[in-house]
Amino acid sequence: MNIMEREARYAAQNYNPLPVVLARGEGAYLWDIHGQRYIDMMSAYSAVSHGHAHPRILAALDAQARRLAVPSRAFYNDRLALFLEKLCQVTGLDKALPMNTGAEAVETAIKAARRWGYWVKGIAADKAEIIVAAGNFHGRTSTIIGFSSEAEYRDGFGPFAPGFVEVPFGDLAAMEAAITPNTAAIMVEPIQGEGGIIVPPKGWLAGVRKLCDRHNVMLIVDEVQTGLGRTGAWFAFQHENIRPDGLILGKALGGGVLPVSALVGTEALMSVFTPGSHGSTFGGNPLAAAVGLVALRVLEEENLVERCRALGEHMMARLQALDLPAIKAVRGVGLLAGIEIDPAYGSARLVCERLIEAGVLSKETHETVIRLAPPLMISQEDLDWALDRIAEVIGSLTPQEDHPQEPRNTHREEHFQAA
Ligand code: PMP
Repeated sequence: MNIMEREARYAAQNYNPLPVVLARGEGAYLWDIHGQRYIDMMSAYSAVSHGHAHPRILAALDAQARRLAVPSRAFYNDRLALFLEKLCQVTGLDKALPMNTGAEAVETAIKAARRWGYWVKGIAADKAEIIVAAGNFHGRTSTIIGFSSEAEYRDGFGPFAPGFVEVPFGDLAAMEAAITPNTAAIMVEPIQGEGGIIVPPKGWLAGVRKLCDRHNVMLIVDEVQTGLGRTGAWFAFQHENIRPDGLILGKALGGGVLPVSALVGTEALMSVFTPGSHGSTFGGNPLAAAVGLVALRVLEEENLVERCRALGEHMMARLQALDLPAIKAVRGVGLLAGIEIDPAYGSARLVCERLIEAGVLSKETHETVIRLAPPLMISQEDLDWALDRIAEVIGSLTPQEDHPQEPRNTHREEHFQAA
């Protein structure tokens, strides 16, 4: 059995990886087990914004692992406060609660919003509602998938937790209509990442902020994917000149080496947590805190946010200039872009498979969108090389007769394929 066959034999089939076996990464490069080099145009869904194996991050990881890694939060440790102080400073918020994965930070936000709803706003017990957007992606825990609009994420996993109300993304009137006296929070992504790199109309998030102020509702922004420089600002909410009450961070907060996430929020939101009301064995451990701190410092000191803004404008201009029949739309901000492929020309997965042969790694989201999210430290030369390959591969697509449209890969179909 080769590695792919062995993984298929021993791994639960909750992923359907592209056929490349990676063995090494450095900066914006990845190498497979045969020594073939690729440009990473995906950076682990934005978790590797600093680039693979960043020397300063590795040095902090190594030094801290040797000093003290996981003593638990039963005790203070000498790293956590420094990390959270920096996190509050860069976000402009008051307090943070560290966790590990993005989904855990989302769960933290849901708990914070509900408790604020009961304890501060005065909502009757168990009646709190959180408004979310259609097409959202906030993770895969059983509570979170309960308010996903993707049947594939939910199928077979009910019953789901009540208390979530869905409205169309980017529609302020629908949002206002959904607010009731029981609304504790509105929780949204500023740009929907997994949803297909969907950019809402300008002014929408600022409008949501106004609605929250008017109706005494907490605004929680999930920037697990868009945060920490990805859109050419430290946080996507800054493009709209607002401050959320709660900010969910993950992915790049771990510097590309560890899972580190957090809910950062205002005093009003965060003060609802009392000892024992929330926690995690690994959340806030000194190893994660040292890595999180250096991840923030590297973004700041290496000017990765400004770099992303400039390179992002370049990337978007190049993508928008592509005049190829297979491209239906190009969307994005900063170094986060989606290229929507006309299904008549083949699936986004087919494009990603051909890109592997061309030396570029990316991943489709949904059946039709190729997501581009390279490390923020990528050189313009490497970015241009990757964009040239992408243009060649998409340009070589011909209509359907040549590439019969692949069936929608629902988990059921995958299940039967695997059986
Ligand atoms: N929120 C958003 C906006 C995300 O994009 C993701 C992951 N793609 C998550 C939450 C969940 O993060 P994790 O996979 O670390 O649980």
